[in-house]
Amino acid sequence: MPPFQSVFCMHKFNPYEPTGPLENRWEKHLFDLALIAPQNRKKYNIIVVGTGLAGASLAATLGEAGYNIKSFCYNDSPRRAHSIAAQGGINASKNYQSDGDSTWRLFYDTMKGGDFRARESNVYRLAQLSCNIIDQAVAQGVPFAREYSGYLANRSFGGTQVSRTFYARGQTGQQLLLGAYSAMSKEVASGRIKHYSRAEMLELVIINDRARGVVVRDLVSGEISVHTADCVVMCTGGYSNAYYLSTNAKGCNTSATWRAYKNGAYFANPSFTQIHPTCIPPTGENQSKLTLMSESLRNDGRIWAPTKSSDCEKNPNDIKEEERDYFLERMYPAFANLVPRDVASRALKGICDEGRGVGTKVHDQRLGVYLDFSSVIEKIGIEKVKDKYGNLFDMYERITGENPYQVPMKIYPAPHYAMGGLWVDYNLMTTIKGLFATGEANFSDHGANRLGASALMQGLADGYFIAPKTVANYLARNQLDEIDGNHPDVVSALDSVRARIDKLMKAPKPKHSPDYFHQKLGRILWQACGMSRKKKDLENAIKEIEKLKSEFWQSIKVTGSEKDFNQTLEKAGRVADFIELGHLMCHDAIEREESCGAHARLEYLSENGEAKRNDEEYSYVAAWEYDEKKEHILHKEHLHFEFIKPSVRDYK
Ligand SMILES: Cc1cc2nc3c(=O)[nH]c(=O)nc-3n(C[C@H](O)[C@H](O)[C@H](O)COP(=O)(O)OP(=O)(O)OC[C@H]3O[C@@H](n4cnc5c(N)ncnc54)[C@H](O)[C@@H]3O)c2cc1C
Repeated sequence: MPPFQSVFCMHKFNPYEPTGPLENRWEKHLFDLALIAPQNRKKYNIIVVGTGLAGASLAATLGEAGYNIKSFCYNDSPRRAHSIAAQGGINASKNYQSDGDSTWRLFYDTMKGGDFRARESNVYRLAQLSCNIIDQAVAQGVPFAREYSGYLANRSFGGTQVSRTFYARGQTGQQLLLGAYSAMSKEVASGRIKHYSRAEMLELVIINDRARGVVVRDLVSGEISVHTADCVVMCTGGYSNAYYLSTNAKGCNTSATWRAYKNGAYFANPSFTQIHPTCIPPTGENQSKLTLMSESLRNDGRIWAPTKSSDCEKNPNDIKEEERDYFLERMYPAFANLVPRDVASRALKGICDEGRGVGTKVHDQRLGVYLDFSSVIEKIGIEKVKDKYGNLFDMYERITGENPYQVPMKIYPAPHYAMGGLWVDYNLMTTIKGLFATGEANFSDHGANRLGASALMQGLADGYFIAPKTVANYLARNQLDEIDGNHPDVVSALDSVRARIDKLMKAPKPKHSPDYFHQKLGRILWQACGMSRKKKDLENAIKEIEKLKSEFWQSIKVTGSEKDFNQTLEKAGRVADFIELGHLMCHDAIEREESCGAHARLEYLSENGEAKRNDEEYSYVAAWEYDEKKEHILHKEHLHFEFIKPSVRDYK
């Protein structure tokens, strides 16, 4: 195992958390940030990598303010970013339901949901900005669901006892992205944004310790080019695809954030990954994708498994009520089917491990429990259920061939979201000066577990309201020279990209496809660094990943040419980065000798299987630094709780 070292001092990475009353911190900070006068903004160039919700909202806002933006995405349009997959909704503490919601409650729920492993100042700011996001989206024409009265409708998501989730049927992400994309398109038309689709960032350009540009490969022509600017913002999404099978779009990857890590940006809490409880179970060993069924379905669907394992093969409609175990309602009467995702996922896995799972056997185990809508259909009628969830039910039927209005859905947990990501300070700047990270790409405000409908909130708070101000502050406060295209650091960034592509194309004994390695990595991570983790398994996983890495560079087989459209080459580069990230994830999981949120270390669970935190020793953000010799160096950002007292999470 390569050595890693722990550094307790706070040198390079200061979170710059403001002080004073919590509710005034953001406003006071905004006042302290330097501004750039409107007539001077056109002198500044900003690169935005990634145009999902976080990137499109940021590019649009900066463009509208008058800056010159270059934006990049690997999709064929910003509209195809993974953000369009978001189904269930976006949280905001508008309290339209008058059910006791408030900024403070959203803040508290998010801190508690994350098992007290996030920064108070950031999370409070997020709760404050939540309402502005809804206003912004409504002004753009996002068609949120409405009540008969005309008020925007809300529903509930896990980990809360109020209804604060705004939604557009089961397409909230898509509708929000259309809003942000329209705003961005206006700036493209005005010339303030120059956008490049099908362009993958493969390297960061660092000059005088500052992020000054990116090296990009045109995915259609294979052409490599350099783009320089005054600063760079990474909005490149999450890395759940490290597990191979996940609910993320197939293209989601870590390559941009991994390049940042290798260039000096710290990577925070990499092992904090969320396994979502309500996904369509795998049905075979060669599956390449898993599908989420939105958490909103837990509002009305009741989760159960047969009480007797001998009933697991029966038609669920033939199992009598008294023979059904509504296990979440039994275990957690207060929150019942709406417990947070980590709690629900562990409970589901426990039931299947007991041998009470249903559905097809994969690796000799039935991986599924029922999500049943018969009670709500009886109560409000099929038409109202169709209104609420119609498109989700249709999607389920298209994938499984079963009609969920008649037979309960089957669900099982799957990798879904990365709470870990690039470490950022209160200004969303990484440890590389001039490199910012927003949305799922940063380590975010969700601590050790994200609550449902909070990712869209965070990405859009970052993009519309926070980064536009903090990026401007950075530009205003720093004297940045023009960059010559022949600068040695530009040339060396270009050379390193060419050398890496060459290495991928010319492995000594080319034999296996990128998917071969990716599947292997996914299995290692799922077993050792998935829903439950154990020191010994993680240590073995590290050795296996090291072996896999050297096998990869010996025998990766990339067909076709690098000077052309080549998806095998794209995948190979991404898998190489996932392998290295997987290595870091396991280190991070070993080092954290406690359970918290989604990070369930089997050695540190309470008697009834709940996560047992160790606040005295582990109340910190683990921020990892890349070091060529030592590989990973751990730094700790200690978390201070001035306004709330971390408590044992109790959803009973
Ligand atoms: C199935 C599903 C449903 C979800 N539902 C919800 C929900 O209801 N509510 C909620 O709050 N959250 C939900 N989430 C989470 C949420 O959708 C994501 O966290 C969020 O959309 C991420 O947005 P983003 O802008 O940070 O990243 P993305 O939308 O992933 O965008 C990343 C962008 O970066 C670009 N990119 C990446 N790497 C590179 C590179 N190297 N070079 C160039 N471009 C690059 C991509 O092309 C893309 O434009 C869901 C997630 C999934 C998987």
